[in-house]
Amino acid sequence: MTDSGRVKFLKRLIFSIMLFALGTALADEKIEIHDAHIHYDQDMWRSLPAADAIKMLKDQNIQRALVSATPTEGAAILYRQDPDMVIPMLRPYDSWRHRYFWHKDPALKSYLLAHLKKLPYRGIGEFHVFGKNADTQQIEQMIDIARQYQLALHAHTDLEGMQILLNKAPDLVIIWAHGGGDVDEKYLHEFLNQYPGFYIELSLRERMLDGNEELTAQWRKLLTQYSQRFLLGMDTYKPTRWAELPETASETRHWLSQLPEDAIADIARDNLERLFPK
Ligand SMILES: [Zn+2]
Repeated sequence: MTDSGRVKFLKRLIFSIMLFALGTALADEKIEIHDAHIHYDQDMWRSLPAADAIKMLKDQNIQRALVSATPTEGAAILYRQDPDMVIPMLRPYDSWRHRYFWHKDPALKSYLLAHLKKLPYRGIGEFHVFGKNADTQQIEQMIDIARQYQLALHAHTDLEGMQILLNKAPDLVIIWAHGGGDVDEKYLHEFLNQYPGFYIELSLRERMLDGNEELTAQWRKLLTQYSQRFLLGMDTYKPTRWAELPETASETRHWLSQLPEDAIADIARDNLERLFPK
């Protein structure tokens, strides 16, 4: 081989090694995610216009997302920007103040019905309700509407609240935001066994990881055993969570990659697709 031939060969070799490394890195770090917990609240609309928000998600290889917002028009804005990607969720309250009493607001039913006419919402949520506050006539009316319109419920609640919701709506899809936070894992087992429509969304779930950011043995087992019942979430509930989206996505992929391949596909993407087909 001549000198210039050798240089050409080396260049080509280096180029293919780089391509291979890049491909491997992308495959490892950028597993496609379908996200169950994105917010696009009013405080983001100006600083992060809809097109930029969609691009930020796609840059993280998040290809579909459940989106809710305060006020709920935020979900509509993002949905209109990319109806293939965004799965709009109807938030049952329109301000942070309202968040504390919506569950007993006599106007809840008419609010929900009015908004359901405006957009093809696929669920009600993410809503916040705790303890016995979940046990109201208004929430029963909301569940009737969810049943009638075939909507999922996405609830940020505690153990008592989830027990009340499951009792009232054992036939519906109910997604537990944050996997109940710090709720004892034995209840997750119990609900997964008892209610086929019960799903666990994992943003900010506590005690999943050990000090080295590895899944605990208990969680590796739980996620593997019930891999068809878990969903991922980035939970962009405040501006800094949007700013930190790349880190949150990469931390999520880090623990996800510790699972068997079919569990990764279920949790990262397929469960959400089964629940919310296009
Ligand atoms: Zn949230």
